[in-house]
Amino acid sequence: MSTEATLLERCESKCELCAAEASLTPYVVAPHTLVTVDHSAMLCDTCKSQIEDPETADANHWRCLNDSMWSQVPPVQVLAWRQLKRLSAAEGWAHDLLDMMYMEEEIANWAAIGMDDDAEKPRDVNGVELKKGDDVTIIKDLPIKGSSQVIKQGTVVRGISLADDPKLISGKANGQSMYIIAEYCRKK
Ligand SMILES: [Zn+2]
Repeated sequence: MSTEATLLERCESKCELCAAEASLTPYVVAPHTLVTVDHSAMLCDTCKSQIEDPETADANHWRCLNDSMWSQVPPVQVLAWRQLKRLSAAEGWAHDLLDMMYMEEEIANWAAIGMDDDAEKPRDVNGVELKKGDDVTIIKDLPIKGSSQVIKQGTVVRGISLADDPKLISGKANGQSMYIIAEYCRKK
């Protein structure tokens, strides 16, 4: 039986993510590049185009992951996990599903490939991601650039903003707006 015929049989002619009975094509799950049964999922055009172009993703379409995340098929698990991961920044339900999801270690490692854009995010001294609106405590005395003032250790900066440079955050300390190195902060 051809790879595609095997895949069609496995998916019972339904999209393996959203269960749509639309026209299906094999989608190879990165970093793999060859269509094989073990590395591909059968997807409808809607799922495929939203995965390929995350900017157009409609979060509600992905409520389907509520079911498909329990698939026994590794490439489907990987796609479901990656999609939930992308959505979880803005969607609480996706975050909850992600917490519930279980994958074998080998599959989890596969899923994580290419997803470690976390390096792009500001992190505090403990490696906790800092988000807009967080309150942080300064962990050491910091001289303020271009002045003789110091921000004292223990100063609390409320409602920080993010900066273009992921190593920095911005916020108000000593009544002044300034950039602060993220790893000199501790999230409250
Ligand atoms: Zn679909």
